[in-house]
Amino acid sequence: MGAGRELKKALERYWASDADEKSLRDEAARIRAAHWNSQSAAGIDIIPSGDFSFYDHVLDTAAMLGAVPPRYGASAMDPLNLPAYFAMARGSQAGGRDLPALEMTKWFDTNYHYIVPEISTGQRFRLAFTQVIDQFEEAVAGGIPARPVILGPVTFLSLAKSSDGVEDPLSFLDAVLPVYEDVLDRLARKGASWVQVDEPLLVTDLSDQARRAFKHAYAHLAASGVKLMLTTYFGDLGDNLDLALKLPVSGLHVDLVRGTRQGAEILRKKPVETVLSLGLVDGRNVWKADLQELVNTARPFVDAFGSDHVIIAPSCSLIHCPEDLAKETLLDVELLGWLAFARQKLDELVVVARALNEGTASVSVQLEESARRQKSRRASARIHSPRVQERLASLTPEMSRRASPYAARRTAQAASISLPLFPTTTIGSFPQTQKVRAARAERRAGIITQAQYEKFLEEEIERTVRLQESMGLDVLVHGEFERNDMVEYFGEMLSGFAFTRNGWVQSYGSRCVKPPVIFGDVERPRPMTVRWSAYAQSLTRKPLKGMLTGPVTILAWSFVRDDQPRSLTCRQIALAIRDEVRDLEAAGIRMIQIDEPALREGLPLRAEDRKAYLDWAVESFRIASSGVKDATQIHTHMCYSEFNDIVASIAAMDADVLSVESARSRMELLGAFRAFRYPNEIGPGVYDIHSPRVPSSEEILALLEKALAVLAPGQLWVNPDCGLKTRQWKETEPSLVAMVHAAKTLRERHPA
Ligand code: GLN
Ligand code: ZN
Repeated sequence: MGAGRELKKALERYWASDADEKSLRDEAARIRAAHWNSQSAAGIDIIPSGDFSFYDHVLDTAAMLGAVPPRYGASAMDPLNLPAYFAMARGSQAGGRDLPALEMTKWFDTNYHYIVPEISTGQRFRLAFTQVIDQFEEAVAGGIPARPVILGPVTFLSLAKSSDGVEDPLSFLDAVLPVYEDVLDRLARKGASWVQVDEPLLVTDLSDQARRAFKHAYAHLAASGVKLMLTTYFGDLGDNLDLALKLPVSGLHVDLVRGTRQGAEILRKKPVETVLSLGLVDGRNVWKADLQELVNTARPFVDAFGSDHVIIAPSCSLIHCPEDLAKETLLDVELLGWLAFARQKLDELVVVARALNEGTASVSVQLEESARRQKSRRASARIHSPRVQERLASLTPEMSRRASPYAARRTAQAASISLPLFPTTTIGSFPQTQKVRAARAERRAGIITQAQYEKFLEEEIERTVRLQESMGLDVLVHGEFERNDMVEYFGEMLSGFAFTRNGWVQSYGSRCVKPPVIFGDVERPRPMTVRWSAYAQSLTRKPLKGMLTGPVTILAWSFVRDDQPRSLTCRQIALAIRDEVRDLEAAGIRMIQIDEPALREGLPLRAEDRKAYLDWAVESFRIASSGVKDATQIHTHMCYSEFNDIVASIAAMDADVLSVESARSRMELLGAFRAFRYPNEIGPGVYDIHSPRVPSSEEILALLEKALAVLAPGQLWVNPDCGLKTRQWKETEPSLVAMVHAAKTLRERHPA
């Protein structure tokens, strides 16, 4: 994105037609040059190119292969143009045509979202987007002999979906390989000697078909004129290690931060021909590394294979890390001393490389400094709170169980809240307009007083409550105008969290998040949301849903301390949210939504690790949600993930109502409920909020009818896919009107 999110700004200017394609491309080139030059200045030897994307690197790969569904209007001969590229990413209603975006989902266990490639029977592939070649040339022209990066064919296809549901995407392997060969060939002719080919699929449980696909694909690609650095990350190769080592590639990158077990295994197998790239520095977190420990990890590899056969690197792409700590002004000196962002991680690598090449004496000052920092962090009084420890020790099993089973709660809730069949609601946020963001910025800068700011928020809330009433929504929300971000807002009021000014990481497209840093024990000193929910409820007789972020999501979207198990940190957050839930109930809020959109993304990539995670994640949600009376209705919300494989755990969370994203995948999620009868109430999202497109009431109705094929009428809620904060009012209003209209029609068709 650029340290100042330059790409975001350039993209949004271009999308708003405030800038032309040339200025977007110029800005992109400046960002790439800045990144190349900063790596070169840091002393990095091998610098990647082709890692820049206008939106998403999986979409880039689909574009490269010409995997463009015909409806996006790209001709079968021309190179793909940017408007068609962005239409796939974001949908388009330009020129009177109405194109929904492609599906989007989370990249492995990260909060980065990729565009799901769509392939149909008989799909032809061709080199349609030459970005990876162009960017390599650009780097070389700028004096950087870069190593191009591409997403490998097996991971790419395994992430794709076939639009007609007929063929397994992996069956297209032979069709995509010629395009890959062509790309490698062109890169070789332009002077690339190595190409990095990412295959993170190798750290997951592979089907026999995927294993065969790897052998087949790399047998072909080995014949190209370049050396391939097969790159894996986010975990151990585990039972795929032999497969990876036998593939005819010249190099293998392994993640030794998450995949701690595989180091010894690789040393034992002694693959002397292979250049090993050791992922030593954590690309997924922000803590300074213990440099001596990294030297110790790498040393046996250098001894066994020779320094010309060992590369040291971050564990994965640095896209998951903020860019530069030097830009931080919010953090105090002590915390600054514990952290390393992408730019600082380069320095760590350079020190470790020197220690390995020239001996530790050559960098003794840096190694001593690193040891001192590690010690200061462990010993800091800011990390451990005896009060939090005591509360954790007093947790009982009753605290993670509602007082009565769902059936009894349903009766109690129906008695206290009257709702029609197919109740309509939204997921929480309403448009975060320029005006809302400006007011927050003015408050932060001290331009307006706290009282003025609160008055502004009250006005926004009142307007939004009135609007929801006039549109006929059944369950209202206050709109979340006071929140910059659903995690940051809570973190700022909890102890044990720290915040950055510029610690942005990409979430999807131009959208970035600024994850908080959880460095110490977590506590809630005072209520966080009660004031706003209570105010909104005071304005209306309709039920108003209180809105909280759940413990698993707060954990998943933060940079988490690495000195204790994540499960323990999660339980601490759960206790803090539990206090907030009870305070909301005491303030007269009868429905409380605890969002857990990130529950699925934290799921371990390997099946054998999943149960342990789901157990503590579900338990944390239940600790947060179980402190209320039967009549208080607990909602939860999830989005942008595949949920079909964890429906039993979702049911075990025992929320009274679950709203879940499903419109973009045309209610695919309901398939899971054919086999597994979801016991409580559920609102499958009826329109995609990540696109400015306004849905018609007919299409919403069709989705609802589809839902009724597997859900009982008394179970079904009507809501959008997710919160509306990224939308504008001009799309939000007609969309919600269409939604309410669809619910009314459904009530006529299916009277109670
Ligand atoms: N309540 C949040 C909102 O509406 C939920 C956001 C999310 O699921 N990502 O913005
Ligand atoms: Zn959501």
